[in-house]
Amino acid sequence: MIIPLHPRLSDSEFRELEEIAGEFGVRIQPIHGHERSIYAILGDETSQDLINRIEGLAYIERIDRIQAPYKLMAKESKLSQHRVKIGSKELPGGFCVIAGHCTIDPNHKEMFLETAFAVKEAGADMLRGGVWKPRTSPHSFQGDARSLDILLEARERTGLPVNTEVMDFEQIKLCVDAKVDSLQIGARSALNYRLLQQVGELTKDTHIKVLLKRSMHMGPVSEFILAAEYVVAQGNPNIILCPRGTVPTIEGFRNSPDESITLLLKERTWAPVVVDPSHSVGKAVYVPNACLAAAGYGADGILVETHCQPKKGLGDDPKQAVTPEVLARIIRDTREIHGLARKY
Ligand code: PEP
Ligand code: MN
Repeated sequence: MIIPLHPRLSDSEFRELEEIAGEFGVRIQPIHGHERSIYAILGDETSQDLINRIEGLAYIERIDRIQAPYKLMAKESKLSQHRVKIGSKELPGGFCVIAGHCTIDPNHKEMFLETAFAVKEAGADMLRGGVWKPRTSPHSFQGDARSLDILLEARERTGLPVNTEVMDFEQIKLCVDAKVDSLQIGARSALNYRLLQQVGELTKDTHIKVLLKRSMHMGPVSEFILAAEYVVAQGNPNIILCPRGTVPTIEGFRNSPDESITLLLKERTWAPVVVDPSHSVGKAVYVPNACLAAAGYGADGILVETHCQPKKGLGDDPKQAVTPEVLARIIRDTREIHGLARKY
């Protein structure tokens, strides 16, 4: 819907608008009210170029879009019945828990294996472990390719599917060749559209999942959904949306918790939502309650950094990883809340 700056467009302004619309194969229908007129776009209004051309006109205040700018991710799309499988769970539907280290320590394989068995015992559906890490400081530990073998050994020995973050083409390729079950695109990479396309291209026609974190700099939920559309448009519909907190505004939390956007995501898209409370609140003692909140908002699962000995961990683990014992309680309680939330 086009909203003009003034109550009504002049004849020449309307003609200019019609000409632009014609170039994009749509028509303009004026709706004359008592005080003001507004102008409907009849046809496919998803073209951003069309919107930019019209919004660029000095006499137009704004456009309120009725059609979503994404096609494949929309609830009405042909993919609306698609389900993403994690272990024995189908999402949406089941409630899935992804747990494990923030960072795998390549020099302490035994520690990761211990955590892997413990999260399995606690009831997790997927094991996570960072091989390569996006770190704010170039002087911090950046991860180590040797950790990929540790992750694969943990999969082999526990039977759990595994998730790890990839930040470039080579890392995607290594993980696809190793048939890593789920590739994480982290918050810092979620705005790297070429990387989103590459992960979609390279995982097309596989069963590999893409777990897409929400960038801390994303605003409207449509921006997040459009990032996922980049992956799906390349032929991989096995996408999981993962809110993980946005730029901090609340002193005390690492980021601004955003689990509540689950409601909006579920209204607009068919894709499963797995919330990451660990990076959102950023402190182990806050994590259990944040997990319960995520389940209450109707999430299809949670991602919880978990470590058998958090104090000895790398990266985020010493501050935000919960122990497997705490994880077991979180899993029990969030599954119950998930059941309750589905009734609303
Ligand atoms: C992580 O999962 O350890 C991580 C770095 O996540 P994010 O991209 O959300 O910061
Ligand atoms: Mn982390």
